[in-house]
Amino acid sequence: MGTLDPLRLTAREAKRLLVDGEVSAAELATVYLDQIEAVEDRVHAFILVTAENAARYAAKVDGEMQATRGALAGLPLAVKDNMVTEGVVTTCASRILAGYQPIYTATAVRKLWDDHVVMLGKTNMDEFAMGSSTENSCVGTTHDPWDLNTVPGGSSGGSAAAVAAGEALWALGSDTGGSIRQPAALCGVVGMKPTYGAVSRFGLVAFASSLDQIGPLTRSVYDCALLLKHIVGKDANDSTSVELPCEVELPTAERLDGLRFGVPGEYLSAGVEPGVRARFDETVARIEELGGRCTELSLPHTQYALPAYYIIAPAEASANLARFDGVRYGYRSAEADDLIEMYERTRGEGFGAEVKRRIMIGTYALSSGYYDAYYGQAQKVRTLVRRDFASAFAEVDLIVSPTSPTVAFPIGSRTADPLAMYMSDVCTIPVNLAGLPAISIPCGLSEGLPVGFQLIGPAFSENTMLRAAYALEGAIGFDTAPSFRDSSAGSDAGDVRAAAGKEAPA
Ligand code: GLN
Repeated sequence: MGTLDPLRLTAREAKRLLVDGEVSAAELATVYLDQIEAVEDRVHAFILVTAENAARYAAKVDGEMQATRGALAGLPLAVKDNMVTEGVVTTCASRILAGYQPIYTATAVRKLWDDHVVMLGKTNMDEFAMGSSTENSCVGTTHDPWDLNTVPGGSSGGSAAAVAAGEALWALGSDTGGSIRQPAALCGVVGMKPTYGAVSRFGLVAFASSLDQIGPLTRSVYDCALLLKHIVGKDANDSTSVELPCEVELPTAERLDGLRFGVPGEYLSAGVEPGVRARFDETVARIEELGGRCTELSLPHTQYALPAYYIIAPAEASANLARFDGVRYGYRSAEADDLIEMYERTRGEGFGAEVKRRIMIGTYALSSGYYDAYYGQAQKVRTLVRRDFASAFAEVDLIVSPTSPTVAFPIGSRTADPLAMYMSDVCTIPVNLAGLPAISIPCGLSEGLPVGFQLIGPAFSENTMLRAAYALEGAIGFDTAPSFRDSSAGSDAGDVRAAAGKEAPA
């Protein structure tokens, strides 16, 4: 085995090395476990690292499974901690699930296990996936490997940071309003939310069931397609899941000839940082160089999407989180004299502030007398947002926008202002309301921090979207290796690559 650089190695290349016998699954697992050793105390991407299991399983893939191993055999994966994993503690970064050992495994994870991926551990997240910075985690925040003083985005911040920091080859996240794409953007990796229903949500701890989707976080668009290919499909355990109309293709395109791209003015108005805007405009220019055609268009109800989401998502969450009562799962308050007090104390002590805020908003919006004024209105707005996209897709094949209006922001800078935090997702939330697929790819840096470029497609247009993203990625040529600087320290915090025995980037 030569030296493998976990900051640049893709799953595509790792798979080739494994198949050609140039590296073993055990050696590959060691590369990532070593990198976790080297950087995890600074990045804190994981809630739980299952190092022993990973090493043991990788050895098994090399040994007794040689003949029967699956398509992804030996490729190390990190899993967001809101997907249940049999026998492996799953907490959703919430005190209320402390010590909870699931008795079954989420379908998306199960499929990958069946293909013999090696699970490295469970990643940090905002509690119950509510947040945009991973600061709402009961175990403390994750740090963005591009600047350890900034957030990795959220809620799948642990998964995005793990991939960016070379602590995992690739990862699974979940996206209810942007939680895969926004952290992917802030950490300089690829993140995709598939069409609603494309991936089973069985075993994904529910946040807002009409919006939640599982998807890949990877170092390249090809890897994203490869991982997606192995998690999609109808699942008898999730009645909202469907079979994709055609198989996921592994992209090869280098040009964008014949593809029409729409640029919605509403996504470029207030709040988009100049550096983000500059990278976005350059990427639009690249699309045209590659033969794609870009036209401006309007999605007139965009400004109402965020407020509608913040009624619908909390409403669904307030119902979904009713099950955490101290009886069935995890934590139970010790100090209660009767059942009602036990419920109240358990939920009072077990949930964090943001989760309580959502439960209260949701319960209020669904209560008699307010239901029509809030929830009913929000559902109508949702229809309008969906129609905006439908008319746009009569004119164009894909819609493009910045993924996040800003680059990674300093830890703590938005925690006191929930509305400022909610604005992180203005460009991603409408997509969930409409159930569409979207991908974020890195398109360059602004002030040394990654900028994400979002491509949105009609339902089940995954292949077109991946093809376009792949061609664009090739033209952009983004270097995925982060600097691990720490702006709060006033100087570079030291070269972690050197510490890990890796070559420094050119
Ligand atoms: N940041 C959004 C929220 O807090 C989206 C979260 C998500 O996609 N899970 O609800």
